[in-house]
Amino acid sequence: MYLKEFKFYRPGTLSEALEMLSNAENGALKAGGTDLLVEMKKGLRSYSELISLTDLAELKEQNEDAEFVRLGAGLTHSEILDSELVRKYFPAFAEAVLQIGSNQVRNTGTLGGNLCTAAACCDSAPVLIALDAEVEMMNKKGTETIALKDFFVHNRRTVLKKDQILTTVVVKKCAPHTGVHFEKFGLRQGSAIAVVSVAALLTIEDGLCKDARIVIGAVAPTPMVSYNAINAIKGRPVSDFYEKSEILLAAGKAASEDSVPIDDVRGGAQFRRNVLNTLTQRAILTALRNCNMQNTQT
Ligand SMILES: Cc1cc2nc3c(=O)[nH]c(=O)nc-3n(C[C@H](O)[C@H](O)[C@H](O)COP(=O)(O)OP(=O)(O)OC[C@H]3O[C@@H](n4cnc5c(N)ncnc54)[C@H](O)[C@@H]3O)c2cc1C
Repeated sequence: MYLKEFKFYRPGTLSEALEMLSNAENGALKAGGTDLLVEMKKGLRSYSELISLTDLAELKEQNEDAEFVRLGAGLTHSEILDSELVRKYFPAFAEAVLQIGSNQVRNTGTLGGNLCTAAACCDSAPVLIALDAEVEMMNKKGTETIALKDFFVHNRRTVLKKDQILTTVVVKKCAPHTGVHFEKFGLRQGSAIAVVSVAALLTIEDGLCKDARIVIGAVAPTPMVSYNAINAIKGRPVSDFYEKSEILLAAGKAASEDSVPIDDVRGGAQFRRNVLNTLTQRAILTALRNCNMQNTQT
């Protein structure tokens, strides 16, 4: 199917883009276009105006202060992988991004596009939610900031208003003795959409799991925090965290009970729950290992 005719705008600044967006009657933002153009070509969405975000230097910024790293929404996945800040502070996020599509998709698709498409299976969100990331959204009136975990409303729906642009993802640097890990299960090794994914973050203090976050993906309408899995491990001695230990089995079971998966061509709901159970345990153990590695390196 051919794309229907549309007007294409290529603003050079963020304020120009915001102006165009607020004036557009039936407009959409185009970042890399790897989701948008595919859906337009399939006839699932139709717009008369596309506003390109490609030339907006403001969306490519990345910087840090003592507490936070700020990543522009317009950074491509490949730019995230090349980012020294990401590699230094959030290696697990880089690992998740490396699992998005193929080189071509990563060279074109952006962080902002991945979050704004809001597919339940998107690969960048689980680790970022585990890291307690926030997103900044801007319109002509100003900037709004919310936790990324509250950004997603349903599959392919976010809180973003029609006149807002997602500009920045703000990620807090981890507390000492913190390990993070992302697990993705797809139907093949490369260029596969997640059937199930899990991100785990653990902070260890005095031999106890002082803080934890478990975020599950592709098993509910949005990526979501599994509070019952967190409760299963938080405050517990990490000496009890080993393969098939009572605590690990409880955490895996809790995550699968928190999930609300669908049946589709990639897998049945019960299959997804079973995979999630195993993946959660694996993600926790690897996050713990990453935490121990960090401790020996510092
Ligand atoms: C072959 C293939 C494989 C893929 N594999 C994966 C995969 O393994 N994992 C995965 O997670 N995804 C995958 N994707 C999906 C897609 O590549 C990613 O979601 C990508 O990050 C989308 O970014 P984009 O810049 O191309 O977004 P676009 O297509 O440009 O935009 C997507 C949506 O977000 C909106 N948008 C974009 N940027 C902003 C912004 N800054 N503010 C507000 N709204 C915005 C657009 O209006 C549009 O609605 C795949 C896609 C393809 C074609």
